[in-house]
Amino acid sequence: MHFDILTLFPEMFAGPLGTSMIGKARERGLLSVEVWNIRDYALDKHRTVDDTPYGGGAGMVLRPDVLVRAIEAVRGSSSAPVIYLSPQGRVFNQELAAELARLPRVILLAGHYEEIDERVRQHWVDWELSIGDYVLTGGELPAMVVVDAVARLLPGVLGDASSLEEESFQDGLLDYPQYTRPAVFRDLAVPEVLLSGHHEQIRRFRLKEALRRTLLRRPDLLRQRELSAEEREILEELIQEHSCEGRVNGSGCNQND
Ligand code: SAM
Repeated sequence: MHFDILTLFPEMFAGPLGTSMIGKARERGLLSVEVWNIRDYALDKHRTVDDTPYGGGAGMVLRPDVLVRAIEAVRGSSSAPVIYLSPQGRVFNQELAAELARLPRVILLAGHYEEIDERVRQHWVDWELSIGDYVLTGGELPAMVVVDAVARLLPGVLGDASSLEEESFQDGLLDYPQYTRPAVFRDLAVPEVLLSGHHEQIRRFRLKEALRRTLLRRPDLLRQRELSAEEREILEELIQEHSCEGRVNGSGCNQND
């Protein structure tokens, strides 16, 4: 998979996209990322990329002529979607990461300052993605978040692909809690069942804890998911244990988990 990133601050990407799993995936050719400087597409001698907003007001707006020159040069004749990182976009989640991971190429546009010119948004941008309901200074960190979340879904990027299957959101539930050695740390013991070697009991324990986490922290996820008969039965147990008033909507649950 190939990512093109259009930004005013290319130097921000070297660390996060050059180290750890993403750096290794790039070295191994599982993923490629090219970072383009929008300023290189400004034509005047000061390399101006922004101007004041028509109608007045605070902040600067990225100019459409510069942005479109950059987008068209990078996209060429390909049909790769242009994704503008914006707090006004669809909120990025694991499902959208999986959707992007199926594409061969994606162009990410990181905005800055007050906004990009609306005409670019309407005519050259295919999707808008937000990484959450807060406003950052630029689209660089959101672009890195998107590349990271998508890259780890690509075949071969994670050493053990089975770790993906059990992660939070992958099957609509939050992940179960994990423990490692020592078995007792400051008088805190690892749950017995995990030391038992009994695979079926461990599987059920983990499923119950994943459902507990989801019920107490993100009941909205349960409402969007079809539950198996076993999951429904475990959920009934949890609703009793936590005295939930609102049952599957999770309201009024005693939060001690
Ligand atoms: N005036 C804009 C608004 O209120 O919607 C916010 C502009 S923000 C200061 C500058 C740039 O940061 C945006 O153009 C966008 O690329 C990026 N950005 C800020 N918050 C973001 C978020 N939550 N998700 C994705 N991109 C974001």
